[in-house]
Amino acid sequence: MRQRACFNKDAAIIHHVSFPFSSVIAAVAAALSPPTRTPAGLRQTSKMTRLPIAASALLLASASAFAPVSLTAQTGTSLPLRMSTISADETFASEDAKKQIGNDAFLNTNLMQRAMSGPAKKNQEKLKIGIVGAGLAGMVAAMDLADAGHDVEMFELRPYVGGKVSSWIDKDGNHIEMGLHVFFGCYYNLFGIMKRTGSFDYALRVKEHVHTFVNDGGKLGALDFRFPIGAPVSGLQAFFKTEQLEVEDKFHNAVRLGTSPIVRALFDFDGGMDMVRDLDDITFTEWFTQLGGSRGSLDRMWDPIAYALGFVDCDHISARCMLTIFMLFAIRTEASVLRMLEGSPQTYLHDPIIQYLEDRNVKINLSTGCRDLVHEVDDQGRPTRVTGITVGPKDEVKEFDVVVAALDVPGIRKVLPENFRKYPIFDNIYKLDTVPIATVQVRFDGWVTELEDETRMMDVAGDQSDGKGGGIDNLLYSADAEFSCFADLALTSPTEYYKEGEGSLIQAVFDERAFDRSNDQIVQDCIDQLNKLFPSSRKLKCTWSSVVKLGQSLYREKPGQDKLRPRQATPVENFFLAGSYTYQDYLDSMEGATRSGLMVADEIVARADGPNGLKAKSAAAKAAKEEAVLA
Ligand SMILES: Cc1cc2nc3c(=O)[nH]c(=O)nc-3n(C[C@H](O)[C@H](O)[C@H](O)COP(=O)(O)OP(=O)(O)OC[C@H]3O[C@@H](n4cnc5c(N)ncnc54)[C@H](O)[C@@H]3O)c2cc1C
Repeated sequence: MRQRACFNKDAAIIHHVSFPFSSVIAAVAAALSPPTRTPAGLRQTSKMTRLPIAASALLLASASAFAPVSLTAQTGTSLPLRMSTISADETFASEDAKKQIGNDAFLNTNLMQRAMSGPAKKNQEKLKIGIVGAGLAGMVAAMDLADAGHDVEMFELRPYVGGKVSSWIDKDGNHIEMGLHVFFGCYYNLFGIMKRTGSFDYALRVKEHVHTFVNDGGKLGALDFRFPIGAPVSGLQAFFKTEQLEVEDKFHNAVRLGTSPIVRALFDFDGGMDMVRDLDDITFTEWFTQLGGSRGSLDRMWDPIAYALGFVDCDHISARCMLTIFMLFAIRTEASVLRMLEGSPQTYLHDPIIQYLEDRNVKINLSTGCRDLVHEVDDQGRPTRVTGITVGPKDEVKEFDVVVAALDVPGIRKVLPENFRKYPIFDNIYKLDTVPIATVQVRFDGWVTELEDETRMMDVAGDQSDGKGGGIDNLLYSADAEFSCFADLALTSPTEYYKEGEGSLIQAVFDERAFDRSNDQIVQDCIDQLNKLFPSSRKLKCTWSSVVKLGQSLYREKPGQDKLRPRQATPVENFFLAGSYTYQDYLDSMEGATRSGLMVADEIVARADGPNGLKAKSAAAKAAKEEAVLA
């Protein structure tokens, strides 16, 4: 009875929305009826796609996205439609930190303004703040805290800043990167930070709005989002047109995506988002195959995307992670637009941030790891306050009013003293898993992704800077290689990666399938697999290579991790956490790290002043300690 009543209610919604939506589908189908266009930069011959079947399947399937029965079937619970699973009010002291969490944050382009202009206020009290870790999260937190009037000092284990998005120069002048990084168009916070440090306008190169798949034998497929009408239509037509899926897989794909929270979110954003959040306990494969999604789509399209997002496949990645990204793509046209840096992260992302910090007297101590947190305990041995940190080879003690640990998962585990685990928020960090990766760079004496013209492929003479070399200037995915995503940096980020007289510099990220192999073997495997993807490249010679291995990189975005991710404020009142693994909606990404940095700063700024503020408590604790010493 209840189900029937609900269905009737939603049937009314379907009736209400069906006219515009079907018109949209019809418009898309009509627009696609001519033979598939050849995307610029792809230059492949593509098959005609049979769109009407997929279009009507999606239209039919979309209707069921509104039926509460599907919500019940997918989640095992029947949620009120507008209930949010995040209760920000209970956990955040700061209004601005709250704005970064929850459904509104997804569509909130105002966040860029917030990141651009800095914290809302300057504190009356000046805190002495130590930040451990100079990845993006730590550096962003330092920017805000310095602007709020605090005295900030940073400690970084490595000899360079940037953490997982760092780069350095080897003795021969090659820029080596920790990993291949692309910027989605919905990185509002990170773009705000880049605007604030002045790099946004010159540091990023916008790529064609196409996600390109390279298959064995040089067969290309694409999700081509270029379309006169924006999201969601641009996305729908990209899926209808793609050469990456067979017609049957396209049909099943359309049915599954049509019944997904994404379609619901187009009309009921909160309802759709709540459904996505509730899907953190199952894998994407489990979710996708529940209502008809086929193995072919997983193998040919979704696995490469899952690997690119989290370095794990669809059988292991949480459904929430994948659907969160699809949701962004479906709702914001710019979300699926990719940008890459003009050159290395050090020059184009970090140097402007370092300049910003130095202008505000933030001291960054490189090669100065933190070993321990000096802290006080209560009568049950639980930590109550962090009074300082020990740093460097001599374990020098540095005292602070507030300490921020802006670390990666292995880093925070090493730094936390054992008794911190008496609190679940810290203990849960030890339950998070991580993924290993190996980033490979291989330089060639010609243009690897130039598939059509062999003379052009071999031609490296003269000035081919500024992306003038041959081949595909974009991020590439593959279902037929062990590297999930890759790019020719001499084309995509040419300012520092193109070398006169040389050709492609392919950068590819291998995941755990290859991690245990020797560096030489990984390079050889990379070349062999590139030769399979681009058969003409067999004629090219490798002139240089490098491999960087990270045994514990991202937190493993498998089911059930979200509830283990800690908030930025902790039960230890003057000890805070930041980092992409801490709770925010953007998974383990540069945008996620940026968000966590802004959120931790907001939380500290909100707590700094007043008789019960962080400064007052720090002063009281110091006075009590001095009294105890005198007594
Ligand atoms: C191969 C690869 C590719 C990626 N591609 C993308 C992409 O395309 N787009 C995207 O958005 N994201 C991407 N990411 C994710 C992104 O790089 C991270 O999410 C982000 O950089 C994390 O920043 P963070 O500041 O939270 O952590 P980290 O960058 O890990 O920073 C933590 C810092 O703490 C330091 N540290 C550790 N222990 C100590 C200690 N004891 N004392 C002092 N310092 C310490 C570390 O050296 C490090 O500098 C990728 C990641 C990898 C590995």
